[in-house]
Amino acid sequence: MMADLHRLVAEITAEMSAAAVRGRVADYIPELAKVSPDHFGMVVITADGREVAGGDADMDFSIQSISKLFSLVEALSRDADAVWARVGREPSGSAFNSIVQLEAEGGRPRNPFINAGAIAVTDLVAAGEDSRAGIGAILRLVRDLAGDDSIASDGAVAYSEAATGHRNAALAHFMKAHGTIDGPVDTTLSTYFHQCAIAMSCRQLARAGRFLMNGGIDPATGHCIVSPERARRIAALMLSCGHYDASGEFAFQVGLPAKSGVGGGILAIAPGRASIAVWSPGLSPQGNSLLGTAALERLAHGMGWSVFNPDC
Ligand code: GLN
Repeated sequence: MMADLHRLVAEITAEMSAAAVRGRVADYIPELAKVSPDHFGMVVITADGREVAGGDADMDFSIQSISKLFSLVEALSRDADAVWARVGREPSGSAFNSIVQLEAEGGRPRNPFINAGAIAVTDLVAAGEDSRAGIGAILRLVRDLAGDDSIASDGAVAYSEAATGHRNAALAHFMKAHGTIDGPVDTTLSTYFHQCAIAMSCRQLARAGRFLMNGGIDPATGHCIVSPERARRIAALMLSCGHYDASGEFAFQVGLPAKSGVGGGILAIAPGRASIAVWSPGLSPQGNSLLGTAALERLAHGMGWSVFNPDC
């Protein structure tokens, strides 16, 4: 199995590195527009602790919306009832930054992985604290999961997003008007922009996802990060909502719970089998990594990894 995995990762890396059609790098956050679309990296960590890497596996990128997974874990561990009182658990079928659905539904975001839902979740983490405590807590969690204290938020990316994040500001103010968020909008948004700006490599990200392949227990430390039930439920949300209005297509093509970000990263989980991180900055029109998705499709089919596969 390991020989197959090594060969497959090498084949996928060669294919993706040479691909002519690579998608469009996000340019609505000016700092992200500077990243070359030529990068491709992937890391697969298996349940027995082996790491198989390809391409730019150790190059940092902006994790963007993948951070919504970590802020959700942090908020759930503080007060799960408060999370579900303010956000739903339904796929949105809308763009990640849609405003119209939020208004039509009375200021209650459909799920924690669209921007509105993530801002509402982050508000719980930032609540009542000074402006740096929330991002400090999210960073502590990510560093602990990855086993790497060097992980940090990139100030230039956070500034770039804060300077241009008018849609996110609109979503946050609208939710404040509806009582969906409690804290000062500026503090909540600053925390959200800094969490999106966390820079990680595929290797660090795949390590940070290990607890989800392992029923909520971090195999590196033996620490219980979330209960087995919560790990299953987070995976259910990743599968149904992790790729916004392309979540159904991703489930159809890949069949694994996964969370994407507009930096071009995707963290995917094959429960009981592997934690997988891929990165290629060019995006599909829905804002998901084009080659990252293609790589996961090849890997999942090649290894027979799918939550819908009875043998997986
Ligand atoms: N920081 C980005 C935003 O709020 C995150 C979006 C994403 O990765 N899909 O627009």
